[in-house]
Amino acid sequence: MDHYEEWENTETSEFTDEDNEAEYIQSIEEKRKSRSLLLIFIQLVITVLMILTAVSVKLIGGTVHSTVGTWFYEHYNNSVWIDTAEGLLPFQDNVKLSETDNALPENETDEQEESIINKLKKTMKKPLTKTVLTSAFGERELEGSKEKHKGIDLGAEEGTQIFAVMDGEVTIAKEDSSYGNYIVITHDNGVKTLYAHCSKLLVKKGKKVKAGDKIALVGSTGQAYGSHLHFEILINGKNIDPATVIKIDEETD
Ligand SMILES: [Zn+2]
Repeated sequence: MDHYEEWENTETSEFTDEDNEAEYIQSIEEKRKSRSLLLIFIQLVITVLMILTAVSVKLIGGTVHSTVGTWFYEHYNNSVWIDTAEGLLPFQDNVKLSETDNALPENETDEQEESIINKLKKTMKKPLTKTVLTSAFGERELEGSKEKHKGIDLGAEEGTQIFAVMDGEVTIAKEDSSYGNYIVITHDNGVKTLYAHCSKLLVKKGKKVKAGDKIALVGSTGQAYGSHLHFEILINGKNIDPATVIKIDEETD
């Protein structure tokens, strides 16, 4: 009995005062309110910070990208082999060639280039048995923006054989996002030839080739609008119009 009374007393003593009970509930509710306000505030701060971070990354990132892109385009425009602005990739040996090229007096370079072109006209073979020009060298408009086409496009069915145009060594044979599967052959006198968008490469880097050797098959890999061979000729890192060197066939179909 003693214990029971004791228990009853404690039980009642805590809740007999109604004012205290109301105060207690109120203080709990106030705490709850202020806590949820604090949580909302924290969430707001985090959201604002995230938006600020996203905006600054976009602004700074964009500026850095375009600054680097513009600088690169201005300095190495003539020496970089690209089909589109997206393919702003440096080719180290090519960059070096263009630096020595720039070091020579202008007229000397022109004379040297002219004599090399004359030699090429006599010795260079066709990269395809039948050469049908589908896009010429130089300025052209693609999807509304002007760009310099660094080679010529020769229309051909997928799987058509591609031949080395002169003796030389395969110095690049790989895949690129813009060129697709492509090959670069380095010849004498600072001359290079490039064969892009191939469906299959038949030679590897380091392979010595002879004029007329089968090196690849026509395709539409990389940024290509259809099955064709994109063919470039470079003299000391500078693109020249391949149509002035190799024979272009009349379309007979
Ligand atoms: Zn092309």
